[in-house]
Amino acid sequence: MGEVEGQVRSEQLDAEREARRRAALAQIRQYPDTVLRMQAHDVEAGDESVAQLVERMGRLMQEARGVGLAAPQVGVLRRVLVYQTVEDAPVTALVNPRLTRASDERESADEGCLSLGSASVIVPVERALSVTVEATSPEGEALTIEADGLEARVIQHELDHLDGVLIVDRTTPEERREALAQLRPQPILGPLA
Ligand code: ZN
Repeated sequence: MGEVEGQVRSEQLDAEREARRRAALAQIRQYPDTVLRMQAHDVEAGDESVAQLVERMGRLMQEARGVGLAAPQVGVLRRVLVYQTVEDAPVTALVNPRLTRASDERESADEGCLSLGSASVIVPVERALSVTVEATSPEGEALTIEADGLEARVIQHELDHLDGVLIVDRTTPEERREALAQLRPQPILGPLA
């Protein structure tokens, strides 16, 4: 596995995996899609459609070579996120996540985003080093996640997506200008063969 930058792994893929990555990215909403700017709504208790949504999001995240994905990125305005910061670990899915603690200690590190040209836009983002999040599992069990390092960073990135916030909002005006200038329309679905 290559280096992880925020939501995106940077690495070289073989042709088949690269084709799958592009096909997955084509199903992920891209900036400036307005859904990425909207507030997601709480999932109601007992909603069984969440399991299917989580399954689809986990698959798209892995095929897109991301380490996290939030429901608005697949056009669904519900408070659901998935992440997988260790490549072969199970995917963690959080429903109605709430940040209940963030460390005062913060750190800046480079992040990319599957909705911002995948690996083409990388900006430094300052985040809390450790966080506590309360959520429910897709099956409705209460979860408390205490995370630090990359896991804490990815959770904060995905929580932002649930509130319509993107990494370009969390960086300096200069970085933001430069990043958005790189976001020319890109042929996401190029020749797949
Ligand atoms: Zn993102």
